[in-house]
Amino acid sequence: MDLPSDFKHAQDFQQRLAELYTPAQVTQILRGLSSDSARSFWYNPLKPIEPIGEYAKVPGFTDLFVAPEEDQLTYSQAATDGHIYFQNASSLFAARLVEAQESDEILDLAAAPGGKTIAMAAAMRNGGRLAAVEPVKGRFHRLKSNVERCGVTNVQFYQRDGRGVGRATGPRFDAVLLDAPCSSESHMRWDDSSTYAQWSPRKVKECQRKQKGLIQSAYAALKPGGRLIYCTCSFSLEENEMVVTYLLERTDAQLLPIEKEQEHFLDGITQRGRKALPQSLKSTLRILPHGVWDGFYLAQVKKPG
Ligand code: SAM
Repeated sequence: MDLPSDFKHAQDFQQRLAELYTPAQVTQILRGLSSDSARSFWYNPLKPIEPIGEYAKVPGFTDLFVAPEEDQLTYSQAATDGHIYFQNASSLFAARLVEAQESDEILDLAAAPGGKTIAMAAAMRNGGRLAAVEPVKGRFHRLKSNVERCGVTNVQFYQRDGRGVGRATGPRFDAVLLDAPCSSESHMRWDDSSTYAQWSPRKVKECQRKQKGLIQSAYAALKPGGRLIYCTCSFSLEENEMVVTYLLERTDAQLLPIEKEQEHFLDGITQRGRKALPQSLKSTLRILPHGVWDGFYLAQVKKPG
């Protein structure tokens, strides 16, 4: 019997998870993908206001708060005007890992809709310079308006393909964030089969091809001694450890460890079936979905100085 294509994709997806995670972790991921969770927000220091209400802090952050599902804050004027910013904990964690400083020159190579650009600009107190790249027209305009709404003034916007940027700029940036376009597996709804229409093993492969081009460009744009943060919201080995392996095999890039400071933080994977991947990939990070944390993958790469 032929299965509907979306159902087939759901089975493929689960099978792939089972190859990477323990049964308990697979259950945690599938539960995380089907739950309507609370959202997290931070106060934007570029547009300060008095704290609103009493909200619990997200463990691991001093300035990220949990707003329960359907909380009125989601629709508040403070959110619309950019005084507070709703952002998933994994996304904020990625932006903070860049450790953007006031005098830095930072490249955000896949920037729309701009959440991480805004978090980095806030950390830089609008100092230094942030170059934000987005090739898709509609998303580019959304990026600009989002960033401007939040009082950010240190960003220059470039509507272009990120794969050519490293060649064009040469090695000049103190840090590069590549929040790569991906199969978005962690945004799929396990209980809604229609979301699987967006996903297939072929799509994962296509994303990997683009990610390889982007990570090479990101590394080329980095000055000696600089750091690149590579991240995706996919669980697949192809889009994560294998893209990083591709860079490690072709350049002098080195991995820096990321501290596994939460229970739902796992080491990067160093095995593909019977084949061993570079053992240094252990120092990369896989975040399991957990409360306000989306599933995420992060690698911290250094260019020797
Ligand atoms: N960093 C963003 C944020 O935190 O709001 C999210 C980035 S999203 C995961 C990936 C983005 O990469 C999408 O906006 C997508 O349009 C863009 N993109 C797709 N192809 C690209 C390319 N060739 N070069 C640069 N960006 C690309």
